[in-house]
Amino acid sequence: MPLAPGIGIPGTQIDHIDVSPAVWPGLPLASLAPSLDWLYIQTMGVGDTDETSIIDRYRAARSPLAVADPSDQRFPAFSADALEELDEFGERREMALGDALYRAGEARRDFYVLIEGEVEVVRDDESQQLVVVYGPGQFVGELGLLTGQRTYLTARATRNGSVLVISHDEFRRLMATKPIISDTIFRALIGRRETLRTTSGGEAVQILGSRFSPEALALRTFAVRNRLAYAWIDLEEEDDVGVLLASKGLLLSDTPVVITPTGVLRHPTPGQFAEELGLTYHPIPGRTFDLVVVGVGPAGLAASVYGASEGLDTVALDAVGPGGQAGSSSRIENYAGFPNGISGGDLAARTAVQAQRLGAWLVSPCEVAGLRLENGFHVVSLRDESEIPTRAVIIATGARYLRLAISNLEQFEGNGVYYAATDLETRSCSGSDVIVIGGGNSAGQAAIYLSQQGCGVSIVIRRSDLSSSMSKYLVDRIAVDPHIEILTDTQVRALHGDSHLESVVLEHAPSGDRRAKACAALFCFIGAQPATSWLSGKVALDEKGFILTDRSLTAEVLVDPLFSVREPLPFETSAPGVFAVGDVRLGSMKRVAAAVGEGSSAVRAVHEFLAM
Ligand SMILES: Cc1cc2nc3c(=O)[nH]c(=O)nc-3n(C[C@H](O)[C@H](O)[C@H](O)COP(=O)(O)OP(=O)(O)OC[C@H]3O[C@@H](n4cnc5c(N)ncnc54)[C@H](O)[C@@H]3O)c2cc1C
Repeated sequence: MPLAPGIGIPGTQIDHIDVSPAVWPGLPLASLAPSLDWLYIQTMGVGDTDETSIIDRYRAARSPLAVADPSDQRFPAFSADALEELDEFGERREMALGDALYRAGEARRDFYVLIEGEVEVVRDDESQQLVVVYGPGQFVGELGLLTGQRTYLTARATRNGSVLVISHDEFRRLMATKPIISDTIFRALIGRRETLRTTSGGEAVQILGSRFSPEALALRTFAVRNRLAYAWIDLEEEDDVGVLLASKGLLLSDTPVVITPTGVLRHPTPGQFAEELGLTYHPIPGRTFDLVVVGVGPAGLAASVYGASEGLDTVALDAVGPGGQAGSSSRIENYAGFPNGISGGDLAARTAVQAQRLGAWLVSPCEVAGLRLENGFHVVSLRDESEIPTRAVIIATGARYLRLAISNLEQFEGNGVYYAATDLETRSCSGSDVIVIGGGNSAGQAAIYLSQQGCGVSIVIRRSDLSSSMSKYLVDRIAVDPHIEILTDTQVRALHGDSHLESVVLEHAPSGDRRAKACAALFCFIGAQPATSWLSGKVALDEKGFILTDRSLTAEVLVDPLFSVREPLPFETSAPGVFAVGDVRLGSMKRVAAAVGEGSSAVRAVHEFLAM
């Protein structure tokens, strides 16, 4: 058998392998694609001395992560009639074997439909992992087409053929005007993202760090909230961290690290991570939006869906990522239509994609720092000092958790002390003893979820029972859960630990007795305050910081001349054209469904305002 020079001689680097079918019977497309196979072999052969291992790795990499069966809703093939309809939106182009439709890391967002030939999608790193192979009638791409994320996989032709290329603007027009085709594409985009999230296809973007690193937790929270396909490499689970990091040219002091097809980011902030992925807001000179939604929790998401669907040019900004408080709940059981409950993350992700499909632009992390009126427009200013002019604003900034008054709290935040109990936070403590502080529904939900993860849970409350502050269904469940104890009349007084939280000091109020209790994590749900510090002096607030709207606005605060000729609209604040919805609004119900209802309804008032 003809072998490459060097194969079989230990220590020799392979620089040539004969890829003829006689030698490599497993190679597909031998007659048409030797150049691509050659590329793979070359990539895999570097530094390798063992022919068998190259063949095995080649075969593993060439087995696609998903089979593009047209009967699967992730991989539909358009009929000839549908292709004719699509022709109006783009232009047909020839493609030749080896042509890249796009490469990992590009900001290009054209939409490609294959007319003839074959296109493969691969992870363009040393693995050259084949993700999927598309044939005639099928389209190429995933959810990034809607979210604006840079490509993280490469698509290239494995046969000569032709492709219909639809530009991004035309793709938006297509999604807005062809409902049946748009449904098909939308379902496929969502399904493909989920496939990438749950297979090694998503490993094109990696976060490496310790589970005890608050910085890593912030990066993962951003990734999860934005439903990114990525791989989390927990250094605590690696046998030889030094070897792993060295293989990537990294030191422990570099972590957390984000690796993307285009860069290696050492200690990035979520904002830098977003920038690398192409997900940040960049001002567009001369562009004025109809509506800016500040805060993308349930209320802001609903406002975005309704704003975009009712034809308003809408951008929604969030300091963290879509979801808000609801995104920190593992299970919401009182949202109509979901009899088995739904995780806040899932609910937010679905609504975010819905808003984007309808044309809203969702941007995070993007903290809003101020608001002013200029030449009849509202100007929303961001923490990075960029500004967005808009005709109307909906404030949906909800509430921020309250923190415990303990001197060394910061040392353990994200590192044993958490303000959410989702898979992200609980993974590092499952099976261990944990503390939940608070007597409200969020604390109750967290306790039950943690117990289901195998934790021994102690609920710490200042009161003498739960029934006055927690819904009965949660109180009843907690009462029969053998893994949950309730420590009444008790407060946490101190936190102890070295690299992460290890124990707390509890004080029993009536007796003043103090005792140490070992715990792997403390989940804090002691209430929240409205996130309105950025608004001071701009709209009327009550003494606790909640925003006054419509009927709660008194004559003293209705000083704008416009209000001498008309009443405030529903949800309108003391600043005409600025509306407030959800938990941030005085008198709101502080529930997901109520926030969604308010966000949706406020859009009608925005329309009325814009029509004035
Ligand atoms: C753990 C937990 C469990 C819960 N469970 C339930 C439940 O089961 N059922 C239920 O009905 N309710 C539940 N709730 C309450 C419910 O989640 C809230 O009522 C709801 O999320 C409020 O929605 P919102 O959009 O008004 O505000 P929030 O959800 O608070 O969202 C506000 C958003 O604004 C962003 N933001 C704040 N300031 C800025 C700024 N300056 N710039 C940009 N963005 C900003 C934040 O990052 C956040 O994403 C729970 C709450 C928690 C914390």
